[in-house]
Amino acid sequence: MRFLVTAGPTREPIDPVRYLSNRSSGKMGYAIAEAALEAGHEVVLISGPVNLKSPGATQFVGVMTSDEMHDAVHRHLSGCDIVVMCAAVADYKPAIVHAEKIKKSAEPFALDLIPTRDILASLPRQNRHFLVVGFAAETNNIEKYANQKLREKHCDIIVANDVGIGMETDENEVTILFRNNEQAKISRASKQKVARELVKIFLNSCEKRLTIKR
Ligand code: C5P
Repeated sequence: MRFLVTAGPTREPIDPVRYLSNRSSGKMGYAIAEAALEAGHEVVLISGPVNLKSPGATQFVGVMTSDEMHDAVHRHLSGCDIVVMCAAVADYKPAIVHAEKIKKSAEPFALDLIPTRDILASLPRQNRHFLVVGFAAETNNIEKYANQKLREKHCDIIVANDVGIGMETDENEVTILFRNNEQAKISRASKQKVARELVKIFLNSCEKRLTIKR
């Protein structure tokens, strides 16, 4: 099987020295890439800027902005069987990127932001040949929001986690929601262990899909 995994944050430039980003460490996405490799699969890892070493045998694509990540995902989609969108893509970007450094002043300063493109929602929906896994990191109403995302973004699976447990840490605890309303839980463990379990679940779902289609 061929996996495409997105990981880490994106950086949305404001001017040549400043950007908007978030606290994502990329650890969960890298652990999934590593677990898929360990299980003998091919992996394309599309990563925002993180302080992690890319797992050796991946096809590694480094990106900075949400637009670069969007384009990289669409460029590498063909031939992939399982697409795991683990990246914490910025939701907004500055409406304009200043060519020169914005000078500081004593006055309040407002930045015009526009929504970024939703990469997960931009994946083809008809006759697709790959399984789509989205992630939902929430602080509250985790299952409700995750369920909405599953349907609105047309995912096969959503992996939901509490940012209080998973953000920037080495451990995670996740709930997995499937399109047929089934659910599974992986209780708190290292991201490596959670990733191995997730890869098994993704492969199992992918095989089921193939069996149904035949
Ligand atoms: O809506 P929210 O950002 O919580 O959705 C999270 C899921 O959507 C993750 O799988 C994330 O990788 C993906 N996403 C995306 N492009 C965006 C925002 C989120 O692919 N612009």
